[in-house]
Amino acid sequence: MINYKNPTGENVKQPAENILKKEPFRMENLPRDWRNQIQDSIVNAKQLSAYFPIDMKQIETVTEKYPMRITPHYLSLIRQKEDPFWRQSIPCVEEIENDSGKEDPLHEERQSPVPNLIHRYPDRILFMVSDQCAMHCRYCMRKRKTGNPFFVTHDTIETGIAYIKNNSKIRDVILSGGDPLMLEDKKLEHILKQVHRIRHVELIRIHTRIPCVWPQRITRKLAEIIRRYHPVYVNTHFNHPGEISTESEKACSILADAGIPLGCQTVLLRGVNDSLPVMRRLMKKLIRIRVKPYYLHHPDSVRGTAHFRVSLKTGLRIMKGLHGHISGLCIPRYMIDLPHGGGKVPLQPEYIEEYSSKKLTLRNFRGSLFHYPEA
Ligand SMILES: *Cc1c(COP(=O)(O)O)cnc(C)c1O
Ligand code: SF4
Repeated sequence: MINYKNPTGENVKQPAENILKKEPFRMENLPRDWRNQIQDSIVNAKQLSAYFPIDMKQIETVTEKYPMRITPHYLSLIRQKEDPFWRQSIPCVEEIENDSGKEDPLHEERQSPVPNLIHRYPDRILFMVSDQCAMHCRYCMRKRKTGNPFFVTHDTIETGIAYIKNNSKIRDVILSGGDPLMLEDKKLEHILKQVHRIRHVELIRIHTRIPCVWPQRITRKLAEIIRRYHPVYVNTHFNHPGEISTESEKACSILADAGIPLGCQTVLLRGVNDSLPVMRRLMKKLIRIRVKPYYLHHPDSVRGTAHFRVSLKTGLRIMKGLHGHISGLCIPRYMIDLPHGGGKVPLQPEYIEEYSSKKLTLRNFRGSLFHYPEA
């Protein structure tokens, strides 16, 4: 039996095999003070049923294919069935019943010269350095991988680093996954150090959802490590203003105080943030915790995530409601990722009504028309 505290502070006993079943974590490799955090995560229907009335059978069928992992911290955000936090974390039968979309619509696997590294743009690469996540977000665009540990090994890391070394055009290295901050400090530092040493690499980015789903992982020690390899930009991932808890705010200030510029990549998701008031609150709250909204991603056509899809029209309407109405610092760029690995393209609501050789006719954020002379 394993004793642990549930999110409301009660002591709970669970048979160890419940917790370790289908458990991708290699427990023995985790630092001691992490284990409780990891062990407290909800990974099966039985554990979840202690908190919410759920259809265990249904959840089990979904988790056979797409595993579940919810940190106590994230679980504590859920207020009711189908709320934005529930939708993002609790398996839903539509994941297996609606199989529209593709496993890998962006052809990441075909643009992968060495395992776990995607080279789509000439000057930057995305390097998956961890096969673990603190939470399995139900809408994950890399569901094909995060659902099945894809075995980041010592070899895939070293091969990736060698690839970067041998390609002098690569200036910008994005550490992603899974979640890079699931790596122990020592392993993360090893990677940062190796990459930082490469002369042509000018910039390292870390893409992580940890400040949102497991903010306690962001320690001063971690920030101290990261800052040694500056410039390192950390792109966080918040999708709803309710996710910006006191703990997340603290995590972000630890990073910001270490001089680490913070961005946020939000995914537009049905039933989570596909509304203007929610999106405004999220963007305003982000800049208050010194996180600059970077991208608002239109959801990709990934199998198992159809119930999160929204129309481009909705996305553009939301963007129109941001531009001009709230501080320009609050405004992310709205991006679609083209199928077949075409890359990202920004979308903008239309402001130009007419374009002639003499003048532009434009509509401002209040809807009034203005003429602007062409040079
Ligand atoms: C999004 C992405 C990048 C980074 O794109 P930026 O627009 O520079 O943030 C790099 N590689 C891959 C494969 C990507 O999907
Ligand atoms: S943390 Fe990122 S990679 Fe992991 S499941 Fe969530 S969205 Fe996917």
